[in-house]
Formats: sequence, C-alpha cells, structure tokens
Amino acid sequence: MAVKDEKWRLFFALWPSAKVRQSIVEIADPLLSEMEGRIIAQKNFHITLHFIGSVTDEEKNCLHRAARTVTFEPFGLSLDCFGFFDKAKIFWMAAQTIPAELEQLHDKLGTAFSACDFQPDIRPYSPHVSLLRKARKIPVEYQPFTINWHVDEFVLVESVSTTGGVDYRVIEKYPLQNK
Ligand code: ATP
Ligand code: MG
Repeated sequence: MAVKDEKWRLFFALWPSAKVRQSIVEIADPLLSEMEGRIIAQKNFHITLHFIGSVTDEEKNCLHRAARTVTFEPFGLSLDCFGFFDKAKIFWMAAQTIPAELEQLHDKLGTAFSACDFQPDIRPYSPHVSLLRKARKIPVEYQPFTINWHVDEFVLVESVSTTGGVDYRVIEKYPLQNK
C-alpha cells in the first residue's frame, strides 16, 4: 500500500461495473437533463458502505486489515427507484428493497472497524448512488426500471479534491467469495 505524510480521506464503497454505470446513465439522463444542479460524473458513481473521513497511514492500514477479515458471499442488488435528500439537496438512485445482505455487509464491516477505534455512523444506513448535487425541480414521475447489479466485491476509495472537482481513487479491492 502507498504511504503518505498527510492524511487520507477515505470511504468504503460498492463500485459498479462499467455496464451498471452505463445503465444508470441511460435511465437517469433524460431526468437529469430536465433538472437544475451539478451532475455527478459517471466515473464517480458508487454506493458508500462506510464513510471514514480523514485518517493517518496507520489508521488506514488498520481499517484495511479489518476489512480483509470480513468474509461475505456475492449477492444481487436491484436499482429501481430515484429519491432526494432534502437537506443535502442530492438526487439519487437506489433500491426500493434494500437486500438484507447489503445491511449485513455494512454491519459486519462496522463491527470489524471497532478493532481500529473507529466509530461507524450510527444513523440508519441509507444506501444510494448520488447523481446530482444542489438538485432542484425534482421529477415526481418516471418510467419504472430495474438495473441488476451483481455485487462481488467492495472497495476502499480515496477521495481527492482536485481543481476539476472530486476524484475518487479505488486503492483496495475486497472480493466477496462463495463458500
Ligand atoms: P465533496 O465533499 O468534495 O463535495 P464528495 O461529498 O463527493 O465531494 P466526500 O465528502 O469525500 O466526497 O465523500 C465521499 C463519499 O462519502 C460520498 O458518497 C459522500 O456522500 C459520503 N460521505 C461524505 N461525508 C459523509 C458523512 N459524514 N457521512 C456519511 N457519508 C458521507
Ligand atoms: Mg462531501
């Protein structure tokens, strides 16, 4: 793993395949083009599992080791709805029925992180793919859709602020394996 003097800004996430990304764009684009706000780049689409925030090398390594201890089987996720966070003004895509496996993976990771003195967010988990920031004029109707996402890994992502906006770099991958 890379070493750094300054701190890392990190989060654990589900990272969609190119195909899933493309499907999200195809379904969301007609709506987004009618809305005001800042469109999130396709390459940045993800579902946050746990936001970590700013950590040292040592803390990062501990979280990485903890994440590696988590064993989990692959599962399916169906993206099939849009929604809006009123306060954050974020328009997103998500699953109407959150798979129990996703909640379990989230919880297992959170428990594993206690070995690193990291306190996971205790608010209810609300998995989503952010699509638009500073969203206004939210569409009330849309065509039904389903995007099937086969989840067979989760990743550790570094969030880097650049002049062109935020850049997410996948720095570790954790495959999910059938027993
Ligand atoms: P920026 O903050 O530079 O505008 P960003 O919000 O996309 O860009 P980060 O703040 O690094 O980038 O967030 C990375 C991911 O973690 C995003 O999915 C974001 O929604 C989520 N996230 C950020 N802060 C929190 C938090 N306090 N609690 C839960 N999730 C968070
Ligand atoms: Mg942020």
